[in-house]
This record gives sequence, structure tokens and C-alpha cells, in this order.
Amino acid sequence: MTEHKKIPPIYVTQPVLPPLEEFIPYLEKIWQSKWLTNNGPFHFQLEQALCDYLGVKHLALFTSGTVALITAMQALRITGEVITTPYSFVATAHSLLWNGIKPVFADIDPITLNLDPDRIEAAITPQTTAIMPVHCYGHPCDVDRIEKIADNYGLKVIYDAAHAFGVQCRGGSVLNHGDLSVLSFHATKVFNTFEGGAIVCHDAKTKQRIDHLKNFGIVDEVTVVAPGINGKMSEINAAFGLLQLKGIDDALQKRNILDTHYREGLTGVKGIHCLSVSGERVANYAYFPILVQPDFPLSRDALYQKLHDNGIFARRYFYPLISDFPMYRGMSSAAPANLPVARRIAEQVICLPIYPALEIQQIDTIIGIISAC
Ligand SMILES: *Cc1c(COP(=O)(O)O)cnc(C)c1O
Repeated sequence: MTEHKKIPPIYVTQPVLPPLEEFIPYLEKIWQSKWLTNNGPFHFQLEQALCDYLGVKHLALFTSGTVALITAMQALRITGEVITTPYSFVATAHSLLWNGIKPVFADIDPITLNLDPDRIEAAITPQTTAIMPVHCYGHPCDVDRIEKIADNYGLKVIYDAAHAFGVQCRGGSVLNHGDLSVLSFHATKVFNTFEGGAIVCHDAKTKQRIDHLKNFGIVDEVTVVAPGINGKMSEINAAFGLLQLKGIDDALQKRNILDTHYREGLTGVKGIHCLSVSGERVANYAYFPILVQPDFPLSRDALYQKLHDNGIFARRYFYPLISDFPMYRGMSSAAPANLPVARRIAEQVICLPIYPALEIQQIDTIIGIISAC
């Protein structure tokens, strides 16, 4: 029997954790002030710091991206039907069901893998009140065409921007498009607060409404204006966010280098297509999706298994499609014939590991396994 050299597993992502001793002073401040949550000083500071860093006007912190998505729908009083993508994490459509809204799935663009504007228009009915696109993998949606459709039909646009931290298109933050944009700061995301999220909005009135909604609808001691939820980020999470923000430029730069290394190593591997998005923009390199095409020697699932067998835990984001889960698959818009592009991509995609602490040699190992198939 041959002895296999044991290599530590490589997961699809790994959070950035600053040195523990740098976090202690933040904790000491919280212990001194005994202000644990409800608009404390770190909560306030992080909202300001994120507005500055991201280049947005108003931002409300939340306990998670999902609670932020659910609250975003409440803030704009969205009802009826919302057009969305099947090619995303389930929270996108779940946030609609939690509001009693019917998701209507439309197919994606084969290049950007984002909602295809041509398909949005065809999915509009008299019940449609909004569009919920996703900047999938942090690649910007066709924000101009989506805005034009929304304006023509009188629809709101709420972007699920969970992947789009720090992404810019045409010189400004992608988060400035649409009526609202929602971020996730979950541990697996580019910028994390352990758990957390935020809604980005454009005016003080909307920000105030969102702030009421995330605190039970409370305005003051004797006034409750809406059946709000508890979506407030705690001081511990906000403090960690402030510390995390100090290292974000370094983290994004490392991701950029790794992304380039993957691309160079995988060009010329027959049957492997690296997704790329053209146009002048600032990317965040949050994911490294590849498509395993029919001319690759192995099927997608066989390659996925081979990587697993070698301790490389790549993920098939986004397979299965949201529209294939039991709570959605009976809907007419979930029919396979309505979503041919999303279906094909979901059968071909693998997201390879990418995170700041990943080493070039580890990427070379992964590229070696793929090119030796
Ligand atoms: C992570 C994610 C969410 C959910 O965010 P949480 O902070 O985990 O609640 C929503 N949509 C997309 C596309 C995501 O990737």
C-alpha cells in the first residue's frame, strides 16, 4: 500500500481574522461602556466608515444579509410579484416568501450570469411591483437597462448585492444603483462581521424608515409605527467590522493576484472556461467560478469529486437552482423550459477556492489537478 501524503484541506473560502490582540481594545471599550447594542458608538462608527469606504450616502447595518433583504421589501412596501433570478443563494428568493411575495424567475445572461434584461420585460404582469436582481459573484448587473425597464413600468429595484462589496462600475459604487442595495457580511463573504449585513439607500428619509423597521418599528418610548423586526447589529459585530475594514484593501489586492494566477494557469486548458466580465470597473474577486464544458475530459461532477478526493473543497455555486427547491419548483416560472441558460450554467459551474490566505502554490496544485484530467 502506498502512503498518501496528507495535505490540509483547502476550502472554497476562509475568513480573514486580524490578530486577536488587535480586537481586545475594542472589547475593553464595550466592557467599560456596557453599551452592547441599540445604536452604540461602534455601530455608528461602522455605518460612517462603510459609507466613506464604499462611496454611498446612507447605510443601515443589520444582523444578517437575509434580515436586511426581508426588511428592504418592507421598507418599500413591496407586494404581489417580484422578478428575480434562479441563479443565486436561496436567501434571495426566501426573502420574498417571508414577505408573502411571489417570486417570478427569469433566465440569466450567459456571459454575466445575472438576470437577463430581455427576459425581465417578458416576465412583467399587472401584479409585478419590483425587480430583485443579484450582482452574481460581484459582477455588476446591466444596471442601466434594468433602470430603464423599472422606470418604464413603474417598478422598484432592490439589488441583492451580497457579493458586491467594494465593486465599482463606471467610476462609482455599484451600490448606488436601484432603489436599495443589500449587502451580506457573513463569515464567508469578502468583508465579514461574523454575521451581518446592510441596506444601502439614497436619502435620509428612507434610512430613517429602515432604522425604525430594524428596531421593532419603534420611533420613541411611546411611538411604534410599523410591525418591525429585531435586525440590529450588536456592538461586538460592529467593532469587528471596523477592525476588518482596516485590512480590506490588502485583502482585495491579494484576491486580485490569485485571480490573475488562476486565469494564467487555466488558459489553454481545453473545456475549462474562466468567467470574466469586461468593461472598466473595480472588481472584488469574491469568487473564482469556472465552467466545465462538454469538451473537458471529465463531467463537472467528476471533476468536483476529483478535487474533493484531493482535499480541495470547491463548491458548485449555484447548483441546484433556487427554482429547483421544493418551495419553488411548482411555480410556472420555475419550469426548466423557462430557464435554459441558468440550467446549463448550474450544470457546468464550479467555484474554485479563493481567499487572501490562499497560497500561489496551492493554486498551482489545483491547476495541476485540473489540467491533468
Ligand atoms: C450570503 C448571501 C445572502 C445572505 O446573506 P446572510 O448574511 O448570510 O444572511 C443573500 N444573497 C446572496 C446572493 C448571498 O450570497
